[in-house]
Amino acid sequence: MRKEVFLLTSTVFMAGVGFSVVVLADSHADSAALDVVIAGGRVMDPESGLDAIRNVGVRGGKIVDISEQPLQGKQTIDAHGLAVAPGFIDLHEHGQEPRNYEFQAHDGVTTSLELELGTADVAAWYARRQGHSLINYGVSVGHIPVRMAVMHDPGSFLPVADAAHRAATPAELQQIDAGIERGLQSGALAVGMGINYTEAASHSEIVDVFKVAAAHGASVHVHLRFHGLKEPRTGLAAVEEVIAAAASTGAPLHVVHITSMGMQDTPRLIEMVEGARERGLDVTTEAYPYAASSTSIESAVFDPGWQESMGITYKDIQWAKTGERLTAETFEKYRKEGGIVIIFSIPESAVREALVNPIVMVASDGMPITGSKVHPRGQGTFSRVLGHYVREEKTLDLMTALRKMTLLPAQRLEKRAPMFQNKGRIRVGADADITVFDPNTIIDKATFEDPLQYSAGISYVFVNGVAVVKEGDLISSIFPGRAARAPISQ
Ligand SMILES: [Zn+2]
Repeated sequence: MRKEVFLLTSTVFMAGVGFSVVVLADSHADSAALDVVIAGGRVMDPESGLDAIRNVGVRGGKIVDISEQPLQGKQTIDAHGLAVAPGFIDLHEHGQEPRNYEFQAHDGVTTSLELELGTADVAAWYARRQGHSLINYGVSVGHIPVRMAVMHDPGSFLPVADAAHRAATPAELQQIDAGIERGLQSGALAVGMGINYTEAASHSEIVDVFKVAAAHGASVHVHLRFHGLKEPRTGLAAVEEVIAAAASTGAPLHVVHITSMGMQDTPRLIEMVEGARERGLDVTTEAYPYAASSTSIESAVFDPGWQESMGITYKDIQWAKTGERLTAETFEKYRKEGGIVIIFSIPESAVREALVNPIVMVASDGMPITGSKVHPRGQGTFSRVLGHYVREEKTLDLMTALRKMTLLPAQRLEKRAPMFQNKGRIRVGADADITVFDPNTIIDKATFEDPLQYSAGISYVFVNGVAVVKEGDLISSIFPGRAARAPISQ
């Protein structure tokens, strides 16, 4: 960031006391050297509260000027009538392949992170994406994949054998903690956990993983042990477990997709998170804007008792590949086969409750694309919040919505990964990850029936100063995405 600044010093006398006033005046003298100027847009920055027409100057992948005066650049984007916001940061996207990044870019996402499931091999995960990524990418070290590796579970995405159903031996527990430790030393952004998928993991195993996270200042992103309403295995009881683990170990806690865990009880779960925060704990949460969840049919979520715990039956489950609703027979058949299902279990009121609450972040929980049918959230989450819930339903205002998808996720990670201090903001010196969209037309197009649809109304998306979406179209075969990673300590 280089700026020509004139220092004007004058002396002012007030009530007989002399003091100096320093006035900083920006000359804009070097603006000719800007790479890109985003001109005349409504610049919205949730950190400073700026919401005004400005010109934004980008150079070397950074925002170097935000001005009311015209700026000169090698390239000028006309943003009149459009909102200019920090690029969206998705804390929860399982699909980390080029096709997912294309859908996410079209949804305004500039940084896509897999923090719930995570990986067992952090170094290899980053190496595979280096120089090949449209948008920024990052990962947690995951308790699930580490447990699967240690216990030789044959599951491909989620555990299906010992890692789900068997308590770990003392030797295995040591290996699990060592695997988490190794991942954090390799620069994992956080620790991921899905206790519902590893139900045989004891409370003590969970607390030990929180201890390892605490030693590295890493937040633990948890899919809770239980969801739903049936005592004693309720979403509320599961929140109690992880808040206690966070309080006793000092690890920051992030509860993922709180609506699909709480269902009708979502307001109570949010209240638990708020209460913990009010008492000084570093606890946060997120939600996606849909009334259905999605997971693998072979996972422990569908172990006996699932109907009662979720308050649903076979017909509320949709086989993702074909879109058919299940029966007792097809449920058994597909459970043996394995694959993704969509579960209609979240009340619309719970979705609204989460979006209205200013502390609840927006994150997609998008899934890998394996066929023509997948949950639409990976393709449409952010445009759906801005189009459906902000504009059409007026559930929340635009700045609050942007804050939930930019500043709050950056702040969640910036203590452990200081690079996030320069993300999620439109500020001089911040990374030029910028999403330019039309607040009057932005909308998700992906549906449960036809999920592989790009969102509409996103005009430009810049990743480290490079346009990956231009006039609404994807620019292919460019890879400006960089690793979003914590410092490596090994
Ligand atoms: Zn989950």
